[in-house]
Parts: sequence; structure tokens; C-alpha cells
Amino acid sequence: MTVLEVKNLQKSFGTIRAVQDISFSVKAGEVFTIIGPNGAGKTTTLEMIEGLVTPDQGDIHFGELNWNQDAIAIKKMIGVQPQSSAMFDLLTPEENLNLFASFYEQSRPTDEILNLINLTDHRSNRVKKLSGGQRQRLAIGLAMISDPDIIFLDEPTTGLDPQARRNIWDIILELKNLGKTTILTTHYMEEAEKLSDRVCIVDQGLIVTVDTPAALIEKLTKEREIRLTFLDGIEAALETELFSKNLASVARAEREGTSLKLWTLHPENTLYDLFKFTKEKEFQVEQVSIREMSLEDVFISFTGKEWRD
Ligand code: ATP
Repeated sequence: MTVLEVKNLQKSFGTIRAVQDISFSVKAGEVFTIIGPNGAGKTTTLEMIEGLVTPDQGDIHFGELNWNQDAIAIKKMIGVQPQSSAMFDLLTPEENLNLFASFYEQSRPTDEILNLINLTDHRSNRVKKLSGGQRQRLAIGLAMISDPDIIFLDEPTTGLDPQARRNIWDIILELKNLGKTTILTTHYMEEAEKLSDRVCIVDQGLIVTVDTPAALIEKLTKEREIRLTFLDGIEAALETELFSKNLASVARAEREGTSLKLWTLHPENTLYDLFKFTKEKEFQVEQVSIREMSLEDVFISFTGKEWRD
């Protein structure tokens, strides 16, 4: 079931075309991730969907509902992660949650939310004493307090250390277990790959592509990168490079010192031929790896640009 449909969204700020033309739909229970580099238009897109910014053009439908006619019903249906500045620093997480709960006719029990965001042990500490990761978890809790069906999280892990980031991932996966729909923005490819049912890659206010992480990677060329490092030094790497360049399965090869990189459409054949050669020559191979393709490669392949976090 489609819970959100966005068609031809556009928004400019003066001469800056923040969102040029964005269309997608989100299904119930999905983690749908909008990913793109800085300034790609992620926040502007999210804020238009959340009803905080008015689009210049385009339609936003939550099922049968739209912002012009059904704002109150939509507000009951969605939860938006507040900015840190919207929390009360001198209150505790529990007090913040209770305060936010009082804004709604119905809410989820505070204890349950504290447990979900793993802040039960910090329930009575003042927010100003919390770490960045704990504050972000509280922000997700505040988005959840009204028990919405659809939750919007705008870069919830930006600036957090890897452990704090993983703690947020656990919460997002738990939201999915609860049957919630999550719309997330991030500029971390790894995060998008790990959490998302579908990923929408945006760049310069336009959609580059939308699909499941696996399907996007599958769409890439089947070429794989093999890396070999030799214990016997440069001579062995050089000879193997010359040999590999004559193999039909190898598209190209690059060598740096004792390390050799090969790109092949048939990794099994290439490895078989390579090891036959190195065994005959009695070269000692120190390391072998085959690199898996990632969403980062998808971005590079679609835009021709390097990905920068
Ligand atoms: P980031 O990852 O840096 O948050 P983003 O993908 O969320 O980037 P947006 O914040 O949507 O991108 O910004 C898209 C473009 O619109 C940027 O060039 C930004 O400077 C510009 N922009 C966004 N909001 C405004 C505003 N209120 N006034 C003027 N320009 C804006």
C-alpha cells in the first residue's frame, strides 16, 4: 500500500533551484532513504513533505490526504524528528517526552519510548548533559511520542561516532519491526545500504535513481575488482601484471609497487588462471581480495562524480 506519493516537486530559493523535479512513492512499512551529497536538496524535499516549506510546484499525497485540505489529519499521521534546539535543555528526557505528549490527543507511554530509544537509564538527567548520540535518540523518541504511522528523520546520524550511529540504526530497525514507515535522509552510503528497503539517490535537486540497494548494485556492471599483493616484491607483481593483461577475462590491470589490481567480468576464471601462473612461477601471494560493489559505486556510475561524505 502506498502511504506517500510525491509528484514533480520543485522549490527554488531566489536563483538556487534546491529541488528541480522530484517524484517518488513510499509504501507502508518501508525504510525509504533519500541520499545525496551536501546541498542535493534532501532537507528541502523532506520539509515540503512535512508541510514546513511550501513547494513552488508539485503534489504531495498521504493516501487520499493532502496538505491543503487535510492538514490536521496529516499531522496526526506523521512524526517529525525535531531539531536539537526544539528540546528543553534544562528538562530531563522524560519531562521532554511528557511535554511533547501533552501536545497530542493520543500518545505512546513515555516508559515505552524511553526503552525504545535506550534512554531509560538517563531518563532523569538533564538534556544538556546528554551526549550528541543520546540527544539524537531523544529526538527520535519525540518524533515517536504521538505514535505516528510515518516518521521523518533528517540526517539523524550526522556528526555521530560509529557506535552512536549504530545505536540509531538499531532504533530505525526497531521502528520497522513496529510496522512504522520511516523516511530518512543521510549522506552516509553505508547507512543507506544497511537500513533501507529502497534508496532514492538525489543530486542537484534531481533524482538520480530509486530502487532497493541490492537492485541498484545489481544494475551496475558485473565487473569486479581483484587485488593481489606479492611477498616476492615488484618483479613478481610486474610479471603477473604482464601475464594478466593477456588474459581474455581481464578488462584492465593496474600495478602499484607489489600490489596489483585487476578488473574482470569473470572473477572465477581470472583467479584460476592467475593462481596457475603464480604457482608455476613459485610467486608467493600475500593477500587476495575481491571487492564487492557498493551504493557508492552506483552513485559514481550514475553521476560520473566521486562520492564525498
Ligand atoms: P545537506 O546535506 O547539506 O543538509 P541537503 O541535501 O539537505 O544538504 P538542502 O538543505 O535541501 O540540501 O539545500 C539545497 C540547496 O538549497 C542548497 O544549495 C542550499 O544552500 C539551498 N537552500 C536550502 N534552504 C535554503 C533557504 N531557506 N534559503 C536559501 N537557500 C536555501
